[in-house]
Amino acid sequence: MLFDVARLRDDFPLLQRGSGRAPIVYLDNAATTLKPRPVIEAVRGYLAEYSGNVHRGQHALADRATEAYEDSRRRVARFLGARASEVVFVRGTTEAIGLVAGGLELRPDDNVVVSVLEHHSNLLPWRARCGVRVVGLDAAGVPDLAAAAAAIDARTRLLAVTACSNVTGVYVAVQAWAALAHRHGLPLLVDAAQLAAHRGIDVQGLQCDYLALSGHKLFAPPGSGVLYGTHAALERLAPAHLGGGCVKHVGLDLDYELRDVPWRLEAGTPDIAAAIGLGAAVEYLEDIGLDAIEAREDALRELLDAEVATLPGLHAHSPSPARAPMLTVTARDGALGSEYVARVLSDTFGVMVRAGHHCAHPLHAALALPATLRASLAFYNTEDDVLRLRDGLRALLRRGA
Ligand code: PLP
Repeated sequence: MLFDVARLRDDFPLLQRGSGRAPIVYLDNAATTLKPRPVIEAVRGYLAEYSGNVHRGQHALADRATEAYEDSRRRVARFLGARASEVVFVRGTTEAIGLVAGGLELRPDDNVVVSVLEHHSNLLPWRARCGVRVVGLDAAGVPDLAAAAAAIDARTRLLAVTACSNVTGVYVAVQAWAALAHRHGLPLLVDAAQLAAHRGIDVQGLQCDYLALSGHKLFAPPGSGVLYGTHAALERLAPAHLGGGCVKHVGLDLDYELRDVPWRLEAGTPDIAAAIGLGAAVEYLEDIGLDAIEAREDALRELLDAEVATLPGLHAHSPSPARAPMLTVTARDGALGSEYVARVLSDTFGVMVRAGHHCAHPLHAALALPATLRASLAFYNTEDDVLRLRDGLRALLRRGA
């Protein structure tokens, strides 16, 4: 079936023409994605029509809100190949990883094994609790599994790795990490923040114990996200917060009995609207089809690689073709700073990309990279978007700093 990008673009108010502004070329999808109408409508529907609290009321609005919130959990579970009881709603990947790092029993002389490819959100929460062993990359730019195996010792408590780099876009074979972790009786946490918008996720196939993702990178509102965990893995976590919603009973002497997972990990009123929006987003993606999205994005990525390769002044830092639709570059002679390029691309050419260290300072240090320029695509981008980026970059390179 033909991928009808024009029809899909109509779903995104920010991509529509005729609003009086020039159409934008949005190539910063790894930072956050744009939101389609069904998501906007789901959030509006909750706020305008039934904004009761969840799990705490005996009236029609509370019933409807609870139903929509739990229905969203079931949709997200189906999207991930999980059970609803294995889906904890959180604000995003950072909070999900923080829940695990803060909830596990860890001592300062324990350690976790991570890779240098990680976002700060999959480094610093561990660093705050115990030792962190950071594994380098192999020649293909993926975390070195043999080095991870060698880093494990008797005090290792967990392995944590990204499924997709937010800098190079490279995909990591997390099943191999899961097998390694499980051979040592250890859990594996997968950071799926950059994977979720591009590849169908099946947590059974990935064999991970925990998986974290952010709704706002998945066409859903900021403030939505998921910590997936197997039942046993979630039960091992001490709740980060205590209060309403997470307990069955509190005695006069303040002894308490926690509710089952996932609710024991969602104390307080959650971000109900955002969670409902996340349910709408995954349903929207399922309607398009993850396979169709993958094929479309692979073709766009090939075009992006080919067009940027025509610009000899640029050096690409995304070596592998097995990667998400993004490309990270620097100017070869260092004459053009990435932040300057990003600003001019936006202000002069209407092309939005990101420049900087992408919350991955250790990776930039390991690769001896200055601030880089990252263009990241989603299924709604067009061939013309890629050409506008190429033309903007070409003009800048000709002009010099
Ligand atoms: N992990 C990766 C790979 C990311 O790209 C990001 C965000 O850029 C995060 C974690 C943190 O996500 P959030 O800021 O939504 O918590």
